[in-house]
Amino acid sequence: KKYVYMFSEGNEMMRDLLGGKGANLAAMVNLGLPVPQGFTVTTEACNEYYADGKIINDEMKKQIDDCLERLEKLADKKLGGLDNPLLVSVRSGAKFSMPGMMDTILNLGLNDETVEVIAKQTGNRRFAFDSYRRFIQMYSDVVCEVDKELFEAKLTELKTAKGYESDLDITADDFENTIIPQYKEIFKTQLGRDFPQEAKEQLMGAILAVFRSWNNDRAIIYRNLNGIPHDLGTAVNVQQMVFGNMGDDSGTGVLFTRNAANGDNHIYGEYLINAQGEDVVAGIRTPQKIAKLEEDMPEIYKQLVTIVKGLEKHYKDMQDCEFTVENGKLYILQTRNGKRTGKAALKIAVDLVHEGLINKYEAMTRVEPDQISQLLHPNFTSAALAAAEVLIEGLPASPGAGAGKVYLTAEKVHEQAVAGEKVILVRHETSPEDIQGMVDCEGILTSTGGMTSHAAVVARGMGKCCIVGAKALSIDYDAGTFTIDGKTYPEGTEISLDGTSGKVYMGILDSEESELTGDFAELMSWADEIKKLQVRANADSPRDAAVAIKFGAEGIGLCRTEHMFFEGDRIEYVRQMILSDTVEERIKALDELYNFQVEDFRGIYRAMVGLPVTVRLLDPPLHEFLPHTDEEYQAVADKLGKTLEDVKTKGATLKETNPMLGHRGSRLAVTYPEIYNMQVRAIIDAAIDVERELGCTIVPEIMLPLIGSESEIVYVKENVTKAIDAAIMAKNAKIEYKIGTMIEIPRAALTADEIAKHAEFFSFGTNDLTQMTFGFSRDDVGSFLPEYINRKVIQVDPFVSLDQSGVGQLVEMAASKGRSVRPNIKLGICGEHGGDPESIKFCHKTGLSYVSCSPYRVLIARLAAAQAAA
Ligand code: PEP
Ligand code: MG
Repeated sequence: KKYVYMFSEGNEMMRDLLGGKGANLAAMVNLGLPVPQGFTVTTEACNEYYADGKIINDEMKKQIDDCLERLEKLADKKLGGLDNPLLVSVRSGAKFSMPGMMDTILNLGLNDETVEVIAKQTGNRRFAFDSYRRFIQMYSDVVCEVDKELFEAKLTELKTAKGYESDLDITADDFENTIIPQYKEIFKTQLGRDFPQEAKEQLMGAILAVFRSWNNDRAIIYRNLNGIPHDLGTAVNVQQMVFGNMGDDSGTGVLFTRNAANGDNHIYGEYLINAQGEDVVAGIRTPQKIAKLEEDMPEIYKQLVTIVKGLEKHYKDMQDCEFTVENGKLYILQTRNGKRTGKAALKIAVDLVHEGLINKYEAMTRVEPDQISQLLHPNFTSAALAAAEVLIEGLPASPGAGAGKVYLTAEKVHEQAVAGEKVILVRHETSPEDIQGMVDCEGILTSTGGMTSHAAVVARGMGKCCIVGAKALSIDYDAGTFTIDGKTYPEGTEISLDGTSGKVYMGILDSEESELTGDFAELMSWADEIKKLQVRANADSPRDAAVAIKFGAEGIGLCRTEHMFFEGDRIEYVRQMILSDTVEERIKALDELYNFQVEDFRGIYRAMVGLPVTVRLLDPPLHEFLPHTDEEYQAVADKLGKTLEDVKTKGATLKETNPMLGHRGSRLAVTYPEIYNMQVRAIIDAAIDVERELGCTIVPEIMLPLIGSESEIVYVKENVTKAIDAAIMAKNAKIEYKIGTMIEIPRAALTADEIAKHAEFFSFGTNDLTQMTFGFSRDDVGSFLPEYINRKVIQVDPFVSLDQSGVGQLVEMAASKGRSVRPNIKLGICGEHGGDPESIKFCHKTGLSYVSCSPYRVLIARLAAAQAAA
């Protein structure tokens, strides 16, 4: 069996056997790149090592010896040799990258004799002896498990004794005559033997140590967290060391083949002449721009550019490369796909398509949907963020940047905004009544609530930055102050919210607007060609509808009509309606509301010009509309000609212990049929008006919320159909319409075949469906869910990304039961998950017709839908 491969014998497909790093090194060698040579001991060897009771068999030993000999020939150096000593690094490399989890040993091959040769060859005694003492320390720690603190203590002792400020002050003589003897002494006292001088013994020890490190505690934890199987084993890469500090014809650097910040197609990076990689990282010396290398070493620069551009072609992506020049010879140490900003990801993806390196389908996978939001919203400048002080953190409910003075009520926010101030609304939580303040402010911060709390949903709908559930924040509304970490601040304090990270900063930070460039439009047009899912928007007003259209929405999947009931002074009529005692009184108030609603619907239909619009009838518990103060109750009492006592008593009957499971949704149609009758009349009248006005066809989709059983939908549908038919008759018109239902109660999903007999479409309300399937109150998860996520009891917030194994089963079941009785039933999703890329993939797989999300997530959803189909 072959246990050891020279780099030149492997290839990039052999990740299972050679690990990611080994396969990549092999690939680079095969491309003819100047990579320091070496060999890889396979993952199989690692597994056999464990199977045999942690011993390495003779065949493996022999193959390692053979490959070492071949390496020595290639390098023209000898491990432990005195003419030209070979030094190697020994590194782990599993199939999946486990950064920093396993062990690495550098400069192996140094001993009392070779160190002298290296000192001569480099003309740098200090470097040689520093490397040797580092090697002793690393080897003792990693291979022999001697506490590295013992070594560090000696360094500190020396520096104190000599009055040195940093490690750089330590001389060659200090290393040679003080530190190294002390290090060897530590080794001997701890282990009862001398530090191994035999280079081959060092090598075997190091290979075994890497095998062992596969099962160290942090590697096991890392694999558990990342779902990496424990039986893969790690490979071991033994590679010739090269040195960038051999003089002025040596150097080391890192580069990106394109600009990682903006995607421009030019190489950028940094390097240092006569230095080791560590010097660049440690910031000991200031590196030069890569362009300077062209002056310093023109030939090397030319070779480097050719190589890295070749790597870019090979990997079909922007590369992040490390290189070293040793005595005028260039080596590529590493290459990988480079990390980049959203802006750069977009430009690079589009450019690579134009350059013919990738196709449109591949381009879809090169931009993270969430990176799109970086492009959409204003963001704080990185300079401002770097200098800023974090005040508190919460959940990043809606991205973007917002800065201004804190006010604690929607009224004050409104006043200040009208006076020209920039304002942040800070509250325990928001309610529909805060809507004006939410419109007027720059951003919203709440101390409670989760990702589907009122503040989060509404802010995302507005594209306004919002942070919720900042638990360490307390608010004293009476005093007009808020407190964080024991410090109390008055209203008017200036803060900045980063809705992308969930961080709140003290003071006003600089921000920058983002632009949707031509590249952006181009990528999105490819996305539309590729995706199968339709993308609609959740929009409740003509304004939202216009935004949705701007971002490419193909219809409205959810118009929450209750949101229309809070604008301006409409709430007064809603209160009269719910506090009425008789049907006649109620109808009087409803007639007023009809006038508002019909105008809203006209505006929405106009904005959507014939695209489908799904309007959901009133859903929330009536108690959400109740007055709070005596004055508010008095105003209603005056309008209705009743006493304050009367209306308050009536109001008390509407209070509920568990409103989310209470008097809401289609239940309202059973208790107060007049409400839906008014709403459908407004929907139909507006559609007829706008059809006539624009000459287009409008097919209103009327959606019943919170249906739980067949008999319930039959009952509610019969009533609304009568009202619809009456409205059509009254207008003497002909119009098509559809009636469908939300599927948001588990029982509806379980009996979807019965319900589908009466519903022309299903829209999955995965907010409520998640709430009811988990039994997690949407509005109260802030108090415990973050702890669940911190402790990994739950991996991701199920209100953000659909719980595919649980709630997802209900969606799949309802979809197939629905299709079983109505094969071409339209299936959509309109919960917050409709804008989440992972959930969108699930919707694609389940064969839904559309997803509907807030207007500001439409672009993300279009891209995610294309990725699902690519
Ligand atoms: C839902 O429950 O998923 C839904 C879209 O309705 P709402 O959020 O208005 O309850
Ligand atoms: Mg719902």
